[in-house]
Amino acid sequence: KPRVFSGIQPTNHLQLGNYLGAVKRFVDMQGSGIETLYCIVDLHAITVWQDPADLTRATRELAAGYLASGLDPAKSILFNQARVPEHTQLAWVFNCVARMGWLNRMTQFKDKAGKNRENASVGLFAYPNLMAADILTYHATKVPVGEDQKQHLELARDIAIKFNNDFGVDFFPVPDPIIEGVATRVMSLRDGSKKMSKSDPSDMSRINLTDDADTIAKKFRKAKTDPEPLAETVEGLAGRPEARNLVNIYAALGDSTAEAVIAEFGGRSFSEFKPKLADLAVAKLSPLSSEMSRLMQDPTEIDRVLEAGAERARTIAAPILKRTYDIVGIVT
Ligand code: ATP
Ligand code: MG
Repeated sequence: KPRVFSGIQPTNHLQLGNYLGAVKRFVDMQGSGIETLYCIVDLHAITVWQDPADLTRATRELAAGYLASGLDPAKSILFNQARVPEHTQLAWVFNCVARMGWLNRMTQFKDKAGKNRENASVGLFAYPNLMAADILTYHATKVPVGEDQKQHLELARDIAIKFNNDFGVDFFPVPDPIIEGVATRVMSLRDGSKKMSKSDPSDMSRINLTDDADTIAKKFRKAKTDPEPLAETVEGLAGRPEARNLVNIYAALGDSTAEAVIAEFGGRSFSEFKPKLADLAVAKLSPLSSEMSRLMQDPTEIDRVLEAGAERARTIAAPILKRTYDIVGIVT
């Protein structure tokens, strides 16, 4: 039975890009004869400073987001990473397999570390190895992610291959990224050259799943665009990243295509299109946000789901770690 693994960091609030590029697709993959594991990767979150109370809240809120979006604990294993210590144990082995040069090439590290690279945490640098362990400790082969994770997935593949070569085994399967749909890279509403992110300092750059209808409408109204009306064809959106982004968001929210959106709105002005986009976003997201706040009122149910998920996850991860140690020659 093929296994799917993916995760999201509990930093800040879930944003529209996470929903369209990741969570919605997690739901699509659920229950179709495959085993699905969806993780809240808390140990990734702490690679940059997190206020402890915020981290706790964000962990539960992300779990609430998973449940509200349709992830079902009867169909998927939902859990937080730190509860399954095999992730970090395998990550150590991978720290010793991956090469400094490989990690030096990771563009996300360069972006997140910024100018003062000497002052970035060691965890931020090594985090792609932990991500490889997240996937490979389940022998997962399918990893639904947004476009920004492509490079980290390539690293995970390289680690699996090098481990197998170093020890002369065929143990870790080489995982495939699943990067599909119109929303694999939702862009910032303030800057069409940057992806939308939970941790962007500007709240106006993103739609949070917790935003109310007025906030969503305001953010789309103020979203950066060029002065031209919407193109008459999808090709006409070339070189217009902000316009292209809003069209893609509309398409993804409506389970449609950029072509269909252009067929409907081509040639119209943004002052006409943006309120329609806001209405669609509110219609799709408000049921999620109200279910999330209902679940958050009493986190007992969320905590129970995460605890049970971690137990199930461990039953898969523990034997794989044990075999890894055996291969390496570690006495257990
Ligand atoms: P942070 O800014 O803290 O890194 P993030 O918004 O990038 O937060 P992650 O937790 O790093 O979110 O990523 C979770 C998942 O969401 C990953 O699969 C990632 O590829 C996907 N994702 C993140 N941003 C976008 C986006 N703008 N468009 C599509 N997918 C995205
Ligand atoms: Mg990210």
